[in-house]
Amino acid sequence: MTEPRTTPAPVGLISSAASQRLLRDRREVQVPTPWGAASVLTGRIGEREAAVVLRYGPKLTIPSHKINYRANIWALRELGVERIISQNAIGSINPLVRPGDIIISSDFLDRTKGRPLSLFDDTEAWVRVDMTEPFCPEVRQTLLAATASMPDRVIDRGVFACTEGPRFETPAEIRALQRDGADIVGTPMVPEVTMAREAEMCFASIAPVINFGAGMAPAVIHVGPGSMNDEYYAGGLHDRIERALIDAVAQLPAHRGCQCGHALRSGFHGQRPGWLKNCSIDHQTGSTLPVALEDA
Ligand SMILES: [Zn+2]
Repeated sequence: MTEPRTTPAPVGLISSAASQRLLRDRREVQVPTPWGAASVLTGRIGEREAAVVLRYGPKLTIPSHKINYRANIWALRELGVERIISQNAIGSINPLVRPGDIIISSDFLDRTKGRPLSLFDDTEAWVRVDMTEPFCPEVRQTLLAATASMPDRVIDRGVFACTEGPRFETPAEIRALQRDGADIVGTPMVPEVTMAREAEMCFASIAPVINFGAGMAPAVIHVGPGSMNDEYYAGGLHDRIERALIDAVAQLPAHRGCQCGHALRSGFHGQRPGWLKNCSIDHQTGSTLPVALEDA
């Protein structure tokens, strides 16, 4: 059995970019996983050890539907990460949520089509983790505390709809997502959030709103005045979020007080794959499912 850590575990960050100011003393490492090697930047965020995945690659060449989600999540776990913060710029589909706002998501709709669904897809195991609270409450609260003094409006909950991409949504799709109760839309973060839960890691998202969905504005503009990139980078929102991330990482409790580290305890059935080590079923034998379900 592995001895409990005496120092805080490194904090994981998945983002499209990480400045030198955010991640200091950085080093790129290739971490082998059952799904191939993943490239991770290790270093420090503030005084804490950190591991950062640039989800679109360092040169933004990996579209969201081609990201090796399983390798990225498992590489962070292999590096000892217990908690992941996702930074993902998104679009608003709720007229009350405007570009320039920041949302700490509380729930999500999975509208992807062709992505892997589970870390355990290729194993002899059936894993169904509880998603009643899809995002870690402890990390969410830390993000909310760290953003409380920002000049930007921070919205403390919202339903994120993840679409497949790589294109933007159509106006009809945006209307459908509105009817289904989504507030914001984008192409990253699913299945990162579900795989993090399967890996018994915490996961929460800080999401700057950088545009309106199709049909809610004349166009979805990439560059130039009023564009999504202007809003995010030239307007300083990206820099302010990085400062908030440094504060959030500093404020994370040294050790977890949430239930994310026990996600497999009641949801794992079958043959444990060799790569699954140091988890809550370490001392559990046999089935974890009720008999009635086994017979179904
Ligand atoms: Zn947690």
